[in-house]
Amino acid sequence: MRRTHTCGALRAEHDGATVTLLGWVNRARDLGGLVFVDLRDRTGMTQVVIDAQEGGASGASALRAEYVVRIEGRVRLRPAEQRSSRLATGDVEVVADTLTVLSEADTPPFPVDGTVDASEVNEELRLKHRYLDLRRPEAMAPLVLRHQVTKAIWDFLDAEGFVQIETPLLTRSTPEGARDFLVPARNRPGHVYALPQSPQLFKQMLMMAGTERYFQIARCFRDEDLRADRQPDFTQLDLEMSFVDQDDVLDLNERLMQHVVQAATGVHVEVPFLRLPYRAALDRYGSDKPDVRFGLELITLDEVFAASRFNAFRNVLDAGGAVRGLVLAAEHATAVSRKAIEELEAHAKQHGAKGLAWVRRAGDGFSGPIAKFLSSDEIEHLRALATGEGDLILFVADRWSVACTALGAVRTRLRALLDLPLAEGHAFLWVTDFPLLDRDEDSGGWTYMHHPFTSPEPDDLEWLERDPGRVRAIAYDLVLNGTEIGGGSLRIHRLDVQKRMFRALGLRDDEVQERFGFFLEALRYGAPPHGGIAWGLDRLVMLLAGAKSLREVIAFPKNQRGVDPLTEAPAAAERAQLEELGLGVLERAT
Ligand code: ASP
Repeated sequence: MRRTHTCGALRAEHDGATVTLLGWVNRARDLGGLVFVDLRDRTGMTQVVIDAQEGGASGASALRAEYVVRIEGRVRLRPAEQRSSRLATGDVEVVADTLTVLSEADTPPFPVDGTVDASEVNEELRLKHRYLDLRRPEAMAPLVLRHQVTKAIWDFLDAEGFVQIETPLLTRSTPEGARDFLVPARNRPGHVYALPQSPQLFKQMLMMAGTERYFQIARCFRDEDLRADRQPDFTQLDLEMSFVDQDDVLDLNERLMQHVVQAATGVHVEVPFLRLPYRAALDRYGSDKPDVRFGLELITLDEVFAASRFNAFRNVLDAGGAVRGLVLAAEHATAVSRKAIEELEAHAKQHGAKGLAWVRRAGDGFSGPIAKFLSSDEIEHLRALATGEGDLILFVADRWSVACTALGAVRTRLRALLDLPLAEGHAFLWVTDFPLLDRDEDSGGWTYMHHPFTSPEPDDLEWLERDPGRVRAIAYDLVLNGTEIGGGSLRIHRLDVQKRMFRALGLRDDEVQERFGFFLEALRYGAPPHGGIAWGLDRLVMLLAGAKSLREVIAFPKNQRGVDPLTEAPAAAERAQLEELGLGVLERAT
């Protein structure tokens, strides 16, 4: 069976060699007795010529696409005019002596020979036959890149003294803000395991165990409403370190990222990364994961409009809200018609704004629906921002976070609308200084921004009960080109603080004991200060591969409904299985 070469290996220098190749028939063309086969394996393609009439290579005329064959033969140079630069092996061909069909193949449901672009084939059909889809080199490439990324992670962290440790998949709930996937326990009817939303508690307990530096390429499970960029099971690079401060964690991660991007893609990434405090990220870009590859920064106008005659602005400011503006120079602003502004307004409203106000520079003053409310002071301020005739200023006035994020959404939309150029390269940055807690709109109480184990800034601890919204976390997110690709924090390592944190989240002591008693106990026996991070590995690979969806970087992904079209998971449970688990079905999906 042994092959002497892969299908991508042969070059002019192999002229005359006797070779054995194994692979798939990419295409077979029968030119009246002379059959030309493009033989394909993972490494490439070689042209094989089989003289079906003479010699031993019989059966060639029956060859069809995707047959698996073994070819023995001799390499020869192709005539100069037939050399092909399309293939790396295009200088040569193999004249077959022997042909062995190892497997026949039905006609595939879609061509994988490169003649039809994958985008023209229904994705569901490709996922249903993913083993065929992956025969396309372009489909396999992101998985190979993923392998290189993972290997680079292992190499770097190993050299830095990290230990890779696996944590359980059948476990208890680890809150990360999503629903759990539950697995019923057969031996304990009515009891369930939860699949981990992350290895958070285990990695913290590994620090308490003295591991000091841990990492894992960890599968995680979150039952969320699926958006285009989510999968119910996904992979994190999870890591944790003891006796560190925030700078130690960020520095290690920057060097790790630099190594990974270099090793996997050959691109050099500058470190350290830009660091933006959360407030500044929102104030300037209207996002906690800003894309800084283009400008269009938001402008803070609270003082300018403090005494505004325009009620919508003044009322908001009187109530402690904010007015943010976005200035568009005339060269772009002319492309933004009234109709376009209406669309942008609808977009801002989707992000919580009540409206999108605007003025256009006209002579010494401004035109537009709110221009008549502008005082001469305000006009003077705005003139300094909109210096050219026709410059456009857009405004959102609202609660601070809404004003920022709604106008931030407009900023992103405008970039696409105007096709503004993006700076070259990977724009990595850290967002730091997150608030510890956030208002839960539904309950009116407080909820965590990251997870309940994130350390408050020690200086802010006194506010935890009195003014929870004021407490900063020692937490950081890693952003690449406007996408969050990681997040972490220093952790609470003191039992009293962890208990206060649970209370601030509105959890009753008995509830905490029931859910996290084991963890609180672990904190009793000497926990080192520690911190870490998790990277969304799928997302990182997606961005590095230039792929459009996570599905492209996952071997067997689920579709947007959380279904695996290949195995058709999730599948209906059999009655016997349910009985064994002590479960009944109240409502069955069709
Ligand atoms: N467990 C966190 C997450 O999954 C990451 C971390 O805090 O290390 O987002």
